[in-house]
Amino acid sequence: MSVIDEVKQRADIVEVVSQYVTLTKAGRTFRALCPFHSEKHPSFFVYPEQQSWHCFGACNTGGDIFSFIMKKQGIDFGEALRLLAQKAGVAIPSKLEPEAEGREKARLYQVNEAAAQYFHNLLLNSPAGEKARSYLASRGLPLKTITDFQLGFSLNSWEALRQYLMERGYTESELLTAGLVIEAEAGQTHDRFRNRLMFPINDARGRITGFGARVLDDSLPKYLNSPQTPLFDKSSSLYGINLATSAIRQQNMVVIVEGYMDTITAHQNGFNNVVASMGTSVTEKQVSVVKRLTKNMALALDADVAGEEASLRSVGYENTLDAEVKVIILPGGKDPDDVIREDARIWQKLLEEALPVIDYTFNMVTAKLDLTTAKGKSLAVDKLLPIIAKIKDTVRQVHYLQKLARLVKVSERSIEAALRRIKPDRKATEPKSEAIAQALHPLLSSPVEEYCLALLLQHPELKDSCQGLSTEYFENSPNREIFITWQQASDLALLKTELDTAIWEHLDSLITKSLPPTGQTERKYIFTDCILRLREKFLRSLETKKEAVLALEAESGGTAAELAKLQEQGIEVSLQLGEVFTQKSQRRSGAKEVRNEPRQP
Ligand SMILES: [Zn+2]
Repeated sequence: MSVIDEVKQRADIVEVVSQYVTLTKAGRTFRALCPFHSEKHPSFFVYPEQQSWHCFGACNTGGDIFSFIMKKQGIDFGEALRLLAQKAGVAIPSKLEPEAEGREKARLYQVNEAAAQYFHNLLLNSPAGEKARSYLASRGLPLKTITDFQLGFSLNSWEALRQYLMERGYTESELLTAGLVIEAEAGQTHDRFRNRLMFPINDARGRITGFGARVLDDSLPKYLNSPQTPLFDKSSSLYGINLATSAIRQQNMVVIVEGYMDTITAHQNGFNNVVASMGTSVTEKQVSVVKRLTKNMALALDADVAGEEASLRSVGYENTLDAEVKVIILPGGKDPDDVIREDARIWQKLLEEALPVIDYTFNMVTAKLDLTTAKGKSLAVDKLLPIIAKIKDTVRQVHYLQKLARLVKVSERSIEAALRRIKPDRKATEPKSEAIAQALHPLLSSPVEEYCLALLLQHPELKDSCQGLSTEYFENSPNREIFITWQQASDLALLKTELDTAIWEHLDSLITKSLPPTGQTERKYIFTDCILRLREKFLRSLETKKEAVLALEAESGGTAAELAKLQEQGIEVSLQLGEVFTQKSQRRSGAKEVRNEPRQP
């Protein structure tokens, strides 16, 4: 049995969850105030029979024991697995536990921590730190903020830090690996950060992974970061995440700004759910990091740079988050630091006025065009359609198609036709065969999740047919992990390196799973069917859970408003299930067309 299976078998979800929240038994379920959003009436449920959990409140999401721990602790699958294994007394085979690597990393965290303390002490107490102190005073930073963020100062010296750390037993090679010193010539190293204001960069668990550093005069570069190290990867780091985690969860929202000072000033003024992307535009990796904490993201963009390109990128984030991304538009040329220091109420107002990125793009594009002219209309379509085409969520895509049609006063049908020219319509090329689906029935009916993944992994061309396949449909965490990672990986080798070693065995079994030989068109048909089945399975399970909760609420005298809300959610699920049934029957009736499609040997 694999470690994953063993952990699943031994760890009990009720026992694990109750270590974090107070669960109350309610019929065959357990309920609690949701640990992921703030609420007064409990809408978080644990289902011992399915070994799953679900929040029917603001989160409206759920999962298994692994996803609970990942979300609660803000850690990745591998870390959650190890934590649960430890709790359940399951030994992790040594081949899955890169011990030497673990020891090396632990040393690097230590050396970073020692460096941060050294810099911090210099800032607070050294005469040389005076100019840094007065700079921070001029920016209005009190001592509390300076210590919260453990800000520091590096001396104008080539070897002060190197000497200090080596006297404390760290080796030169450790300093090099941590990126604290640079090798100038063979055998010659010197301090990387000199005469700068130092910003330690932490991961979500508060460990220092690297540093950002700013000059105090006009010298260049203005900002300097740690290089890529075993601990530090700029593209997946978010400045301030260690101090923002609980506020992000509580408010169920993250605000992403650009700079160190933006984050610091925001926190100092009570906007604690703010983190910084550190100078560049937000990356998909950073979005994946915040996705563990919340689906709701707002980006602070400078009015001067917010353009169609930024919007296109944001739609990518929306697809990753499976939710809308909002934009906070800053008055031209100002950054959040300026705005908040001027008047925190203005920032608060900008937050409240944040628009979904696509609505904002609509406004921005159409403001510059005369939509009464043919030229204006066609320009609007040219600019907005590519953005709409990128939206994976069909409901939202249709919403914006309709909005565009109304705006340019053209029929929805012709806008849809234009969209199809950008993105070939699946329905038009997709063959259907009931006979094939029937023949494969035994495979399709049981573990649909694995079958769907095996198809995807073995036939990369199916990646284009994944619209409508939500990560939520994979209720089993290892499967969900593979699907999420696969969406971002370009090939199998890369996928494997991105996945935790504990999942490799499962991954290999999917890659080598024997599938019946099929032609490409036939396969696409089967795959679409698979998505439909997954969706049905997901909705049915949700329906069952919801029914149990509704019965409970009615019994225990929940307020009318709460009941109505649950009922409404229940109706929504039923509607979606109805949609699945319609699609299935449409596919059945259309199946004749391709029944005689030739099969490849
Ligand atoms: Zn919740």
